[in-house]
Amino acid sequence: METKRIVIDPTDIDASAISVAAAIIREGGLVAFPTETVYGLGADALSSQAARKIYAAKGRPSDNPLIVHISRREDLFTVARDIPVWAERLADAFWPGPLTMILWKSDRVPPETTGGMETVAVRMPDHPVALRLIEESGRLIAAPSANTSGRPSPTTAEHVMCDMEGRIPMVLDGGAVGIGIESTIVDLTEQVPMILRPGYITREMLREALGTEVCVDPGIIAADSGQKPKAPGMKYRHYAPRAELVIVEGDTDRVVARINRLAAERQTRGEKTGILATDETRSLYRADYIRSIGARSDEDAIARHLYQLLREFDDLAVDVIYSESFATPRIGHAIMNRLLKAAGHQVITVEKDG
Ligand code: AMP
Ligand code: MG
Repeated sequence: METKRIVIDPTDIDASAISVAAAIIREGGLVAFPTETVYGLGADALSSQAARKIYAAKGRPSDNPLIVHISRREDLFTVARDIPVWAERLADAFWPGPLTMILWKSDRVPPETTGGMETVAVRMPDHPVALRLIEESGRLIAAPSANTSGRPSPTTAEHVMCDMEGRIPMVLDGGAVGIGIESTIVDLTEQVPMILRPGYITREMLREALGTEVCVDPGIIAADSGQKPKAPGMKYRHYAPRAELVIVEGDTDRVVARINRLAAERQTRGEKTGILATDETRSLYRADYIRSIGARSDEDAIARHLYQLLREFDDLAVDVIYSESFATPRIGHAIMNRLLKAAGHQVITVEKDG
């Protein structure tokens, strides 16, 4: 299958491009499109057959449910039932935006879309191309990230093409996304709202909007907590580059020294090394490839560049990547959740005397 990549300006949307893409969705086909978080791989959310195509194109395990994207608030009632007042408050505060809510599913949502679960994930994306596509198609669009299962999520149409070329009919290329990591997922079917995946919308922001306590799924806090994460997707190795990835954390000077030593050792073994640094430290490193993720104080830039750099190291065919830790104040929790998973939780903590 030939994959058409159509460039579309989010500030001046070409109606004919959208109408071709919308027709593909209506016919049960797949279209990749930009959202504010990452690129999504979309299909008609209420069609089992269309949803099945998503799993096939991504090589996604069939028990890993999809997020349903809507463009109008009232569509919540199409996909969910027994909707708590919390959902209204969160929609008021954060939609359109990078927040996914887990609610009890209605009968209209096929089991393929929810990976056989009784609950459904819903979000209203904050991107003009995504919203127009949903509206024009007249459908609700199930869309997981448009990467091959297990790989870093795509933040540009180029990344989507790398993974999906030949597998889907169309990619809408709206340029690089704004946020760069996936939405926060909050489960509203429990006694207490529970974060199943950290993201740009933080626990503090949710607490404030709801005026109530918000907990975090213990299954995602530590790799060794022994609890299964509630979002099926969080249990799979994910976001991962092909190279081995090791995080080194601690005082900056010691981290730099340790990474340089480790990289030199690997180079002597004939391996290609990459380093994920910051603007502040990049000039201090020695390795085959050194890339800065941005200024340490610029959390948004760190989130935006993470997946792109992991993919770039793959293209450079490095054997090992050493990364600094990016436990920044606001979205550091979400960034480190992705980086730790990408690293398979390989972390070296440099002690003060080490
Ligand atoms: P992606 O869109 O690729 O970021 O993947 C969607 C994420 O949402 C995966 O981690 C899923 O496991 C999670 N998810 C979707 N639906 C549900 C649900 N009903 N309950 C819990 N997690 C869900
Ligand atoms: Mg994904």
